Amino acid sequence: MTDFLPKLLTWYQSNARDFPFRRTTDPYLIWLSEIIMQQTRIEQGVPYYDKFVRVFPSVYDLAGASEEDVLKQWQGLGYYSRARNLHSTANEVVEKYAGRFPETYDGLRSLKGVGDYTAAAIASVCFGLPHPVVDGNVVRFITRHFGITGPVDKAGVKKEIMEVLLNLMEEVSGLDSGSSATELLRPTSGSLPKPGKPFASSLLRLAFTESSPGGDPASVPDATEPLSTHETSIFATSLLRHFATYTGPGIFNQAMIEFGAMYCVPRNPDCRACIFSDSCYALKHQMVGQLPVKKQQLALKPRYFNYLVINVKGSDGLYFGKRSGNDIWKGLYEFPLIETKEAVSPQKLSSSPEWKKLFGRNKVEMISHTGDTIHILSHQKIITRFYNLEIKKPSETFGTLVRAEKINGLPVARIIEKYFEMYPMTGDSLV
Ligand code: SF4
Repeated sequence: MTDFLPKLLTWYQSNARDFPFRRTTDPYLIWLSEIIMQQTRIEQGVPYYDKFVRVFPSVYDLAGASEEDVLKQWQGLGYYSRARNLHSTANEVVEKYAGRFPETYDGLRSLKGVGDYTAAAIASVCFGLPHPVVDGNVVRFITRHFGITGPVDKAGVKKEIMEVLLNLMEEVSGLDSGSSATELLRPTSGSLPKPGKPFASSLLRLAFTESSPGGDPASVPDATEPLSTHETSIFATSLLRHFATYTGPGIFNQAMIEFGAMYCVPRNPDCRACIFSDSCYALKHQMVGQLPVKKQQLALKPRYFNYLVINVKGSDGLYFGKRSGNDIWKGLYEFPLIETKEAVSPQKLSSSPEWKKLFGRNKVEMISHTGDTIHILSHQKIITRFYNLEIKKPSETFGTLVRAEKINGLPVARIIEKYFEMYPMTGDSLV
């Protein structure tokens, strides 16, 4: 997972919003906050949380209150059956568990009104158990960053998301911050426990880069080897700072939710300034606006567009055709296109009948091609690849040669527009 965890946890340390329930690991308070926040946006829920804590400071106070009192405090949040469940669960905790919340995920899950999400939140924050919480914010962030492109309501995709989270959780859980930090900084016995190795290596790398800008990457110490006194003194401060960000599964869960809610937002996230811009699948494949994929996109028909960007030696333009017929983007201009039924290799494309028909005996040099770009329409998924070709002789079979300075004025589909954003025309060539 490379530097994912250190980056996330460091970000969380500096950017987390300060809410009262983030300053506690008391299961009663965490449970209360979770049930209230299910009803409303977090900022609007905080005054309700404060009021509940003031009026019912412990689970005994809540259990001992009348249902009417509880409903009164709940007033304005709506969905009153939740308030009734809250009250009855408080009674269950007092009567069945002597006022102590169960300390296992299954025990928590068995309480009335406690679903997967709330059980995972309490288990991780209060008891340090490795149970990921999965809400809309986490799903958006995970599917974008790790390139999970299936519909998120499908069982297999849910499983995939959970697996990614569990792997990350395992890395986080494999490291006990206090003792490992001390261990790591001890020159003679600085090796880290095995499960935490990838995470520890990432921390070492981050700390090394911070402490020695421009330093030789080969000199980054190995997480399995004890650190020398010299190494320790060089980046001890930075290393400790990174370790300080780590406190376990609860912080990991909160950081995931917070990053999804605050940074990897549904519309127009600031990807260029994002700490994950170099590793994010959606950004790399221009799919930020398309992920996560929801149910209604299940029936999308895939189409494979191989666009040929034809440069004729010595000319200062590119070839375009106008789309016609009863198909998408009718009337818009595009590069010469070979549509295939499936993704094809450059070799297969250049030996296809369409290619031969287009180029005949003309000698074609394939300079480069882009990766696949996915463009989602209401019923279709257009998977596009652009081939940058050079040929010696112009030909009418390619379409119309449009001079470089005129290309900007052509009506084109967004997918072609994006191509020119990435590879702008300069004079007579593409860069
Ligand atoms: S680069 Fe954009 S899409 Fe990717 S994680 Fe960051 S904000 Fe989210």
